[in-house]
Amino acid sequence: MTSSYDHIFENNKKWVESKIADNPKFFEELAKTQNPEYLYIGCSDSRATAEELMGAKPGEVFVHRNIANVVNTLDMSSTAVIQYAVEHLKVNHIVVCGHYNCGGVKAAMTSQDLGLLNPWLRNIRDVYRLHQEELDSIEDEGKRYDKLVELNVQEQCINVIKMACVQERYILEEYPVVHGWVFDLRSGKIIDLKINFEEILKDIQKIYNLTGSDWVMSRKTK
Ligand SMILES: [Zn+2]
Repeated sequence: MTSSYDHIFENNKKWVESKIADNPKFFEELAKTQNPEYLYIGCSDSRATAEELMGAKPGEVFVHRNIANVVNTLDMSSTAVIQYAVEHLKVNHIVVCGHYNCGGVKAAMTSQDLGLLNPWLRNIRDVYRLHQEELDSIEDEGKRYDKLVELNVQEQCINVIKMACVQERYILEEYPVVHGWVFDLRSGKIIDLKINFEEILKDIQKIYNLTGSDWVMSRKTK
């Protein structure tokens, strides 16, 4: 009996064959190590794939996805991914990529009880509260929704920059740099929100400066 997911194994077989046809040592090389240049933090939405929309190959992007690309210090999963990517993989770029038509952002815009999703969506509702005046001044609901997607990306970038591991490595090595993007499902294009990383870092360090530890200062003066 064939299952509805049999085609996945068929696809996998064809993919393996095509990779080996291009480079007989492809999997031998892939198994050795990973050295990605990017950490991509995106939404779990099945339409907003990471590697495909970036045209990236296996080994090039370290990926974390959750509902509405949220970074929260109390969420062990995203913080562990960021810490590992920054300190061990030494990625040079961290991308937070949201997308228009995001169901998570849409749900956060509506006042209703969504059970277990409530605490998660509260992160996005907090973004709304932070920018309420700007958002409420947009009359068109679709445009307001797009704006919240963009502001959510911006706020999640700030949450990444608040992390000690990001600030410490940036002070020592001038990397990683944090970028905010939006994927437009309607056109397929990635839009760079041109987050001013340096400016945000300088601003938030007035409150969240986590780089004064002895080990950072001693390594900096070497
Ligand atoms: Zn989404």
